[in-house]
Amino acid sequence: MKARILSAAPVVEKIKKDLEQRCLQLKKRGITPSMSVVLVGDNPASLSYIRNKKIICEEVGAKFSLEQLPSSISEQEFLGHIERLNQDPQIHGIIIQLPISESLKKLNLPDLVKVSKDIDGFHGKNTQALYLGSTNLKLLLPCTPKGVVHLLNFYGVEIAGKNIVVLGRSLIVGKPLSMLLTNLNATVTLAHSKTQNLRDLTKNADIVIAAIGHAHILDETFFNPAKKTVVIDVGMNTLEGKLVGDVNRAQVESCVEAISPVPGGVGPMTVVSLIENLITATENQFKG
Ligand code: NAP
Repeated sequence: MKARILSAAPVVEKIKKDLEQRCLQLKKRGITPSMSVVLVGDNPASLSYIRNKKIICEEVGAKFSLEQLPSSISEQEFLGHIERLNQDPQIHGIIIQLPISESLKKLNLPDLVKVSKDIDGFHGKNTQALYLGSTNLKLLLPCTPKGVVHLLNFYGVEIAGKNIVVLGRSLIVGKPLSMLLTNLNATVTLAHSKTQNLRDLTKNADIVIAAIGHAHILDETFFNPAKKTVVIDVGMNTLEGKLVGDVNRAQVESCVEAISPVPGGVGPMTVVSLIENLITATENQFKG
């Protein structure tokens, strides 16, 4: 038996249609949702992610702008740029593209963007919603966790009551995702590089979500075919010049129930969730 492929394409189309309508409603009121991406330097991978964000943003009818700043920028100048965008009434959503240059790493980046414009969902006040138990996907939640839940929902994969193993505990993926899934009544195990006997965990999981950042680290030895596991691959790695996930799909396909592809899985879900946050942030800023 070959695994069902949980492709992002139909989910993205469905979400985009909804966002187009919401954007249209705002435009009828004279408001064009507008986002600004702040990029320090010219990291080629960042520029490619930014292009994808611009495409979806403009496809739903929203406005996109890029503020590209030199890597030599001082802390003070950088803070000045962010503050100007925070104060600009024509900008409704701001993201600081990661990774950031070494010289700015000391700054408390998640809290620099005004909470109402924080479409990455990294601000302490937005992540607090997760800690308080929110399941509301309409909040400004971190985009990759939100995208993963949208993907599972679209394909009818049940979350409540399931054993889910999340691999990776980063602040942008693993931790907020484990929190969101817990709020959605899953029993979540958050594993990391120091976790012992990883295979015992993954072989007993209903859903395995890999967010490690190591090409093809999960092979068929991590899965028990009888468990009919659903696998979500968040990883984006380069192997022999190609974009690949953390899961070796060719090896795993015959022993799991379903798997999200790389490319064409969590990546596009993350981008569309960002644009969803932009529309939500704009709606919130003009609530009567
Ligand atoms: P990160 O900050 O580098 O975190 C990696 C996590 O993986 C850490 O918690 C680390 O554990 C854990 N880890 C490392 N080796 C492990 C192992 N052998 N077994 C279990 N856990 C292990 O990475 P990230 O930013 O979360 O990104 C992870 C991957 O997702 C990357 O490939 C990234 O490109 C991709 N990503 C994709 C999207 C998307 O939209 N598709 C979005 C964000 C990230 P420790 O904490 O113990 O070090």
